[in-house]
Formats: sequence, C-alpha cells, structure tokens
Amino acid sequence: MKKNLVIAIDGYSSCGKSTLAKALAKQLDFIYIDSGAMYRAVTLYFINNKVNTFDNDQVAEALKQIELNFHARDYQSHITLNGKEVSDEIRLMPVSENVSEVSALKLVRHEMVKQQQRMGKSKNIVMDGRDIGTAVFPDAPVKFFMTADPNVRAERRFRELENKGNNQVTLEDVFENLAHRDYADTTRKESPLLRAEDAIILDNTNLTEKEQLAFALEKVSLFLQPTSSL
Ligand code: C5P
Repeated sequence: MKKNLVIAIDGYSSCGKSTLAKALAKQLDFIYIDSGAMYRAVTLYFINNKVNTFDNDQVAEALKQIELNFHARDYQSHITLNGKEVSDEIRLMPVSENVSEVSALKLVRHEMVKQQQRMGKSKNIVMDGRDIGTAVFPDAPVKFFMTADPNVRAERRFRELENKGNNQVTLEDVFENLAHRDYADTTRKESPLLRAEDAIILDNTNLTEKEQLAFALEKVSLFLQPTSSL
C-alpha cells in the first residue's frame, strides 16, 4: 500500500497557517485538520463547565467527557464538541483569552496529540498548529514554519473578526491577545512552539495568499513526484 503523506504547518498565532493549510488541502485533495480548533473546543468545554485547570483530577475527568469530531466539507474543517458544531464559537475572545493556558496542560496535550496522531495514520493530511512538526508528526516529510510581522497579523485577524460581525473588540485587544498567546505558546514547558530543524520557513508578511500557496506547492511537489525507476 502507498504510504500516506503528512504536511505539517506550525507557526505563530494568526499568521495564515489555516489559510495555507486549506488551500494546500484543496489543491492536493488532502484532508485538512485544524489542531488549534481541538484545543479551542476543549477550552470552550472547560469554560462552560467551570473546570478548575489547577486540579488534575477535574481536568482528567473533563477530558473523558469530551468527544471531538471533524467534519470535512469543502476542504474546511468543521469541529463538533459532543455532537454540537462549535466552529464559530471557538473563535470568539473568551476562548482566545483562555486557550493558551488550557493547551499548556500536560493532560490536555497528551490526549490531543494521541487523537491527532490517529488521524494521520492512514490518510493524506495537512495539519496546522504549534507542535505538529516537532511533537505530533516529527517524521513528517514536509514541514513549514510560518511567521509574519505581528502588526500585520493583528490587522488580518481584526479584519476577520470584523467581517464576522464581531464589533466589540479593538485592534489593540487583538494585538495584545496575539502577543500573549505567542509568549505563552513559546515559553510553556510541554512541547512549546518552536521551529523543527527541518521545517521550511515561510514569512508571509509581504506575500499574497496566492504567492504563499505557490511557494508551498513548489516545496511539496518534491515529495509528490513519482520516483524514477532508473
Ligand atoms: O491555531 P489557533 O490559533 O486557533 O490555536 C489556538 C491555541 O491553541 C494556540 O494559541 C495554542 O495555545 C494552542 N495550540 C497548541 N498546539 C497546537 C495548536 C494550537 O498549543 N498544535
């Protein structure tokens, strides 16, 4: 049987990882998996159920009650939490403000990584996150590490929220949240965000979506070419 291919995309908050991942999945007919959505959905559950994140027993018990499922439609990633679609709710500020603390918990990471590894076992996937190329799929043949100017990132995320009708947050709020998450994600003890040694750096501060897709496709194509029999 032909071996499946995993494309790992890591990087800072709001630097276009999911945009690139979705575009690659569409172009290559791969399945897109948004690992951040999993941490966000767990965070939503913890908020709604007032789980005390300092109490390991409570965290372990809560994790047992959580069932996450992805429903791939049009190369987008829709996530359900215990049967309810939460794809929009998990993008709102209450979750954004708490997700880095929840995702730093060892028990949470172990459970999510286990589920993510299972998803990449037999299918061609593009997965984006913070530790995909380092901890989840350290052997992935294609890894990207994305970055962009923090002001540009905040502006993009702010426009995205605005377009979804979310007018309560200011550009400063978004900038602060990104800075906070970058700091928490890079300094946490459990699999912090860092570039895998073999990851290709993609700084898209001055790139259009089309340009970054072309750049990534060129790199990926090296792994898709049939091997010569000569
Ligand atoms: O990708 P997104 O920004 O939606 O991720 C939300 C948060 O989930 C990140 O700020 C990070 O704290 C956490 N995360 C993580 N590991 C991943 C993906 C996301 O810790 N693989």
